[in-house]
Amino acid sequence: MNKELKYTVNENKCWIYAGAKDRSGYGIIKHAGKTVKAHRYNFELHKGEILPGLVIRHTCNNPSCINPKHLLQGTQKQNMQDKAESKKIFCTNKHELNHSNSYIFNNRRICRICRSTNEV
Ligand SMILES: [Zn+2]
Ligand SMILES: [Zn+2]
Repeated sequence: MNKELKYTVNENKCWIYAGAKDRSGYGIIKHAGKTVKAHRYNFELHKGEILPGLVIRHTCNNPSCINPKHLLQGTQKQNMQDKAESKKIFCTNKHELNHSNSYIFNNRRICRICRSTNEV
């Protein structure tokens, strides 16, 4: 784990990996005979080992970014929550949901407006 990866920097200070990418847009590299995600590789290179079972989250929501400052170690659940929060979501009654009027329960976002009025 000592090879510096090639990248270009965009206006968000994302380091866009310059090599191969997978279908989801994640940079991929060959390392020790295995295919490794470039952002995970770069995280370990700059910040240290990734603990077993943890995923690397992009605070910038850009899968091809390998800037260690944009990468956070977290759980799969947090990663799903990031994804859910990165796009606008609406409840069945078309309330636009955000942090203050909704919460996550059983991996679903629950609308507080509906909860309080029992429109569900
Ligand atoms: Zn980034
Ligand atoms: Zn609602």
